[in-house]
Amino acid sequence: MTIEQLYSLYKVHHAVSTDTRNITPNSIFFALKGERFNANEFAAQALENGAKWAVVDEGKYVTDERYILVENVLATLQDLARYHRHQLNIPFIGITGTNGKTTTKELLYAVLSQRFKTYATKGNLNNHIGVPLTLLSIDDSIEIAVIEMGANHQREIAFLCDIAAPTHGLITNVGKAHLEGFGSFDGVKKAKGELYDFLKMHDGVLFLQGDNEYLREMEMQRGISKIVRYGFSPANDIVGRLEYANPLLCVSWKIRDAEVYHTVGTQLTGSYNTENILAAVAVGHFFGIDDVHINQGIVTYTPTNNRSQITKTGQNVVIADYYNANVSSMEAALANLEVIEAEHKVIVLGDMFELGDDAAKEHRYVVDKALAIDADRTIFVGEAFYAHQNTKAEFYETTDNAKEALREHPVVNSTILLKASRGMAFEKLMDML
Ligand code: ATP
Ligand code: MG
Repeated sequence: MTIEQLYSLYKVHHAVSTDTRNITPNSIFFALKGERFNANEFAAQALENGAKWAVVDEGKYVTDERYILVENVLATLQDLARYHRHQLNIPFIGITGTNGKTTTKELLYAVLSQRFKTYATKGNLNNHIGVPLTLLSIDDSIEIAVIEMGANHQREIAFLCDIAAPTHGLITNVGKAHLEGFGSFDGVKKAKGELYDFLKMHDGVLFLQGDNEYLREMEMQRGISKIVRYGFSPANDIVGRLEYANPLLCVSWKIRDAEVYHTVGTQLTGSYNTENILAAVAVGHFFGIDDVHINQGIVTYTPTNNRSQITKTGQNVVIADYYNANVSSMEAALANLEVIEAEHKVIVLGDMFELGDDAAKEHRYVVDKALAIDADRTIFVGEAFYAHQNTKAEFYETTDNAKEALREHPVVNSTILLKASRGMAFEKLMDML
């Protein structure tokens, strides 16, 4: 079957499924293979559960005309998504970066949907399967799409760009994360820069954090011509400043030469989110949304999923940020804690995963950064931090040990930063705070 033929089947109900437990009626089921499963085995079940067609890549599962046999199911899903994308003549904004992709994506969605029928990646569906599924969820009524693209090795962003064909792009920042896959910080810049390569090649529009030296250097190497700059210095097209963070952020912004600043209170904490907010302002302004509606969009966005979420417990204010962690997001979170006005501050940091050869050095670096901050207690959790044990802070090998310590010596009346890689299971500590 050709892609055109498959596309005409898809167009009837506009639905695809990949999970037999969650089949959209009349959808095309794609029998993907994972490390531990082979969905070819479940194709019959998918049809029973309401799928209309099943795309498989092993002939022995084909028993009637509802099965579509292809060479590779994943590649077919990607091809179909690419084909669909090219039928849609709307702006596609691609977002990648080391930190802040999902937050920025959600902020863009909040602002753009003030005026346009907008579709944005759901949750964190940002990889070689998530991006195609995202594209195939976009129907003809959508006016602008915002696509999150994640990567942990080279050529991944280039591949996702080839499928999603962004007309506009934004790299939130580049930092030291997934060094195992990227090799080095230069490797990170090269990999994320594949989005700039695509924009350059297709004359796309770049939204650039104009004060970020790495991003500027990456842009200059390529010489992109259509650029909208946002940042803090007056040379940017959108100029912003953080008014205060206590702990929710209040941000002001203006168009370059304008006199008036527009001020917006937000539901976000984390001074690093200021630039994510300015990114949303830049995109909203570029697409002709007025200041009132831009700010209305920003005000409505409340983060979820333990990304910089503020929780007031009976005894403390907790900044829960244990969805992920790497050196740059640790630094950003610590810088944020520093500017927050609070009488008592407590820092609880857990191990950062996936740092490769640099792990020891980077954990040592974060220990020093954290100890430089004036806090009532500084607590490190996990084996990697434990290796740098010293007398100036508390060190625990496991999250359970830290939990015991907090039970014995509770924290009260404090603003607490809780940050770690997800695998550290820091949600366990919440009961103690
Ligand atoms: P993932 O790789 O898991 O998809 P992401 O890039 O989508 O992550 P978010 O989920 O938006 O990022 O945010 C994750 C964390 O990154 C935040 O909780 C915060 O600690 C940090 N972060 C967010 N924005 C920035 C920023 N502009 N600079 C530095 N760190 C940031
Ligand atoms: Mg994300």
